[in-house]
Amino acid sequence: MIIDGKAIAGIVREGLKARAAALGARLGRKVGLAVVLIGDDPASAVYVRNKMRACEEVGLFSETVSLPADVSQGEAERAVSLLAEDARFDGVLVQLPLPAHLDERRILSRIPFAKDVDGFSAENLGRLAKGEPCCVACTPRGVMELLQASGVSLAGKHAVVVGRSNVVGKPMAMLLLNADATVTVCHSKTRGLKEECLRADVLVAAVGRPALITADMVKQGAVVIDVGINRVDGKLVGDVDFPAVSEKASLITPVPGGVGPMTVAMLLLNTVEAAERAR
Ligand code: NDP
Repeated sequence: MIIDGKAIAGIVREGLKARAAALGARLGRKVGLAVVLIGDDPASAVYVRNKMRACEEVGLFSETVSLPADVSQGEAERAVSLLAEDARFDGVLVQLPLPAHLDERRILSRIPFAKDVDGFSAENLGRLAKGEPCCVACTPRGVMELLQASGVSLAGKHAVVVGRSNVVGKPMAMLLLNADATVTVCHSKTRGLKEECLRADVLVAAVGRPALITADMVKQGAVVIDVGINRVDGKLVGDVDFPAVSEKASLITPVPGGVGPMTVAMLLLNTVEAAERAR
């Protein structure tokens, strides 16, 4: 069975409309999201446009502050601080990746924990690790929502996450652990990736390598979540060899139309929740 991320994200977004409207009425203003876009990376520009459009669709106010690729560290930090202090915004995010000369950690540290709707801050990641309430990074949160919406129980299951980035792999592993799965995290130095993956009841691929996960790496009946986004011959593909793996998986996400739409939906949800918490 294919997990339809687009449909599930649509349900989340529909539910957010009423919630954002009710909250807006109480606040006397719309729930607001500020996005900082630095440089002219075309993919980043597309992602930001999609986020703006999604905000508008569910009734959130959003604003993009675009800074030139050669902006200084100080100017970039000041721009983020100004937005962080602006009461119109419940959430602030900086679109990544940043131009190479900028110190990402220092720029992101200007976003206060309560407005960190991307969930990338040390405080949010630390709280997640401790199993405390926090703002969870959008992509791994989206994966958890997909699993829940598809009726996948995690307690006692063996989950294997391939990829250990701070934005996907690590928070994904912590969420699965917090949901009582037994979790293995694999990365580029893992020996015997195939054997590790074969043990997975739930396999999450978050690598960025087309068709890294082949059918011989997947246990019959496993749930397979493909986070990867790769462009091959002008087409978007994931990290999973979808045609062959879908023959073995009990549930699988497609690319596109799987995890991707959930990421944006979770950003909207995180922003609405940030506004609710602040109130
Ligand atoms: P990173 O490049 O930051 O991390 C990739 C991870 O994969 C690293 O931990 C790396 O290991 C590991 N890796 C690389 N090669 C191998 C290999 N051959 N075998 C096992 N592990 C390997 O990527 P992100 O985490 O940011 O993103 C992962 C993918 O997810 C990308 O395709 C990205 O485009 C996509 N993505 C999709 C989103 C969505 O909304 N659907 C949102 C965010 C990302 P090591 O740490 O050792 O280098």
